[in-house]
Amino acid sequence: MMNIGIFGGTFDPVHNGHIYLAKTAVGAVKLDKLIVMPDRLPPHKQASGMVSDKDRFEMCKIAFEGMPCATVSDWEMRQRGKSYSVYTVRHFKELYPKDKLWLVIGSDMLLCFDKWYRYEEILSMASLVCISRKNDDTTQKLRDFAKYLTDKCGGKIVVIDALPCEVSSTEIRESIKKMRDTSCYFPKKIVQYIYEHKLYK
Ligand code: ATP
Repeated sequence: MMNIGIFGGTFDPVHNGHIYLAKTAVGAVKLDKLIVMPDRLPPHKQASGMVSDKDRFEMCKIAFEGMPCATVSDWEMRQRGKSYSVYTVRHFKELYPKDKLWLVIGSDMLLCFDKWYRYEEILSMASLVCISRKNDDTTQKLRDFAKYLTDKCGGKIVVIDALPCEVSSTEIRESIKKMRDTSCYFPKKIVQYIYEHKLYK
């Protein structure tokens, strides 16, 4: 049996916070495989103003090329309509029926997990592994919320006790527009990609 992580996001752009979450989750729950899954039309975000699917996909490939267990999947990008996580988890459950699935998420996603479409079904098919992304989201607060969720609908949620890496794609996009130096937020090759493709201007 393999431990397979699914790491979904808009990755607009992918940044060090994503890489940190992925690496920490892989180590914490011993993932054999990590599927990085850029979404197509995120239900909780406006689709307007995003860079192309291809650019987000390419940047993810660059960001995770140094992680042997990681692959970037275009499965959600190839779906029609909105990309709800429950559809993705169902698909991978069918593909890997004997393996254990994990959803890799940051604390903002955990704290609104009970608003996700068919979240009970997700928890019946996959476990969650979560890390804090800001100081306010303490490990205790996240563990309390995880307990509320699992008491309500079962399943397993692992909250990793680690310091947050406080960075977001929104902040980065705004900083690039204001011509600030953003090179500390991602690997050099991503800085180069954004510059060469004139993204977020
Ligand atoms: P935006 O600012 O555009 O909302 P974002 O930085 O939140 O973007 P997403 O692509 O929406 O990035 O996030 C994908 C996943 O990565 C989510 O589960 C999110 O919680 C997690 N994540 C994003 N940034 C961090 C971070 N700094 N630390 C830990 N997890 C993060």
